[in-house]
Amino acid sequence: MAAIIDGKKISAEIKEEVKQKMAVLAAKNKTVTLAVIQVGNDPASSVYVGNKKKACEYVGFCSLSYELPENTPQEELLSLVRELNERKDVDGILVQLPLPSHISEDKVIQAISPDKDVDGFHIQNAGRLFVGESGFVPCTPAGIIELLKRSGIEICGRECVVVGRSNIVGKPMAALLLQENGTVTICHSRTKNLTEVTKRADILVVAVGKPKFITADYVKEGAVVIDVGIHRNAQNKLCGDVDFDSVFPRASAITPVPGGVGPMTIAMLMSNCLRSAEQK
Ligand code: NDP
Repeated sequence: MAAIIDGKKISAEIKEEVKQKMAVLAAKNKTVTLAVIQVGNDPASSVYVGNKKKACEYVGFCSLSYELPENTPQEELLSLVRELNERKDVDGILVQLPLPSHISEDKVIQAISPDKDVDGFHIQNAGRLFVGESGFVPCTPAGIIELLKRSGIEICGRECVVVGRSNIVGKPMAALLLQENGTVTICHSRTKNLTEVTKRADILVVAVGKPKFITADYVKEGAVVIDVGIHRNAQNKLCGDVDFDSVFPRASAITPVPGGVGPMTIAMLMSNCLRSAEQK
């Protein structure tokens, strides 16, 4: 039977640490400011943006909110990003994804100054991560490393399998596990005999974007299973990419959905913003 890795508790600890460090900065009359841009009013994005603003308030950051209409021209968004790049009082810039289809996400992400790219999506930060230099690391995989470390789970020398190779989760996750001296395999939609590969994993990270895709058949007895997926089922209940009920008896530790990886993403965003301000 698996131990539950409590993302709610660990994310609360991280936010508390950020809050305390922020109090030290505030005593020196310093502020930390995150600018959040949302284009259009996708309901899920509005919830994520709202949660990020709430977290800023909790830790003592200022947040600047830009809610732009769906039909905002790309050039207008790019010029707002450039303006925020120049502002000395802004430490982090976050553009909520997905963007409407007439806007190139890549162009917008690459327009953010790498020094304010607290999402860690800029190509310079991605490159730094892969060569092992310090930079901003994408919040979800950074949060997973914190979950593992703070739960006392050893990564060094262990077989780590990541299912999914997106630029925001799978690839940076693999790079971070490698940095921690794991033996890393990345799987994707063209992987042959997926169950054979995932069954090698001591640590299995699943970011495949398909509800309950990973069942007990994919999991070695005693593996640590990290579920990145977030889905809402027909009953409006949240579930992950892992079939929790079937995997739970087989794993040694597992993240639940909700309450696992999800809360860590925002905690690491706060941590990245603080770092940006401290580096100034
Ligand atoms: P993407 O859709 O960008 O990537 C999915 C990956 O899964 C791709 O690399 C794809 O392979 C791979 N894949 C798809 N089908 C299969 C298959 N049958 N077998 C093996 N691999 C497969 O998703 P993201 O990485 O952005 O997100 C993954 C999940 O995590 C989503 O549910 C998302 O909502 C969630 N998420 C949660 C966050 C959080 O804070 N908890 C943050 C970000 C994402 P290929 O490249 O070959 O197409």
